[in-house]
Amino acid sequence: MKTQRLVILLLVLALAVGLEAVVMTRFTGDRGPAAEVAPSPEPTAEPTATPEPTPEIDLAATKPNEAGEIPIVMFHAFTEGLDPNESYSDDFKRYTQSFSYLRDLMERLYDKGYRLASMNDFLNNEIKVEAGYRPVIFTFDDGTYSQFSLIEENGELTVNPDCAVAVMLDFYKEHPDFGLAGTFYVNLGGSPFYEERSEGPKLAGTLQERLQYLIDLGFEIGNHTYTHYNMSNATDAETIIREVGKNQAAMYDLIEGYTFTSFSLPFGGLTDDLFEHIKRGVYEGVPYENKGVVEVGWDPSVSPVNPDFNPYGIHRVRGTGYMAEDCDFEWWLRNERDPVYVSDGDPNTVTVPEAYTYLVDETKLGDKQLRVY
Ligand SMILES: [Zn+2]
Repeated sequence: MKTQRLVILLLVLALAVGLEAVVMTRFTGDRGPAAEVAPSPEPTAEPTATPEPTPEIDLAATKPNEAGEIPIVMFHAFTEGLDPNESYSDDFKRYTQSFSYLRDLMERLYDKGYRLASMNDFLNNEIKVEAGYRPVIFTFDDGTYSQFSLIEENGELTVNPDCAVAVMLDFYKEHPDFGLAGTFYVNLGGSPFYEERSEGPKLAGTLQERLQYLIDLGFEIGNHTYTHYNMSNATDAETIIREVGKNQAAMYDLIEGYTFTSFSLPFGGLTDDLFEHIKRGVYEGVPYENKGVVEVGWDPSVSPVNPDFNPYGIHRVRGTGYMAEDCDFEWWLRNERDPVYVSDGDPNTVTVPEAYTYLVDETKLGDKQLRVY
């Protein structure tokens, strides 16, 4: 099991390194002002003397920019710290962090004006972060027990104090306005959020109970294939349909009516024509559909209204591990790239400064109103 995880980490790393060149090109190449689109294309029949409705928010004070970028952070595993008497692989150190780091990170994000948003709100372009604040999205791949697990206390299931969710719950209690949100991408062919351990409190709860507990806390569960399958090894549609669809079917068996809406590509793989089968399909009579596909990432995501936004190739930023690297989340916090997404506090409007209207594709607004200032 350990070897398997190590192999997985190595593959992720190899792929990520390969991606770097591509992504670097993408984010240096895509920034130019695209066609200067004229804002507000809704001519009224006659100009009237009616004054503009007073905005409910103070634009000058909150400076919203919903055409800006959003960091979507990808976490894997956490530990109390590193044991100085043990040696760890570089890959372990890249994908693992301490609980105290997570706590400190949230504190710093909070102070910088970041607030948690959910993946579903992002995909629906309905970010509910308060006006003037910046959304950040937390995602967790692989369902490790250090992300979330349960223990039994006085005959009741409760959150294991040594897991990321416990850290988030503690922080939320002290800073309710930071929010509590995150998406956990799981492989239901395995045993997410559980491990037989010889040390520490015994982990508890059935898979059904663990998933339900997370959902009841307000977290989202996403699809990460049934067996953590590397899609780029697939040569036929059946394999893809089985890996994506069987995971959804297993979820329905565990949590009635729970439909995955987003998918995290294991190893970041697969870009060819088989990709269509990740978006939607039917496995043994059970339909599935992913509105979003997140990648193993290297940079913040563009806004859902950006002309370049591709819901099937959503960029993520790797959560900084014990071994920090360029283009991980700490790097991006030090090297912020304009424009940053700042919420207008209203999920029904998209508010953008005039200078950034070129970053808005009006066909992506749906029923949302565009407000330019
Ligand atoms: Zn994974």
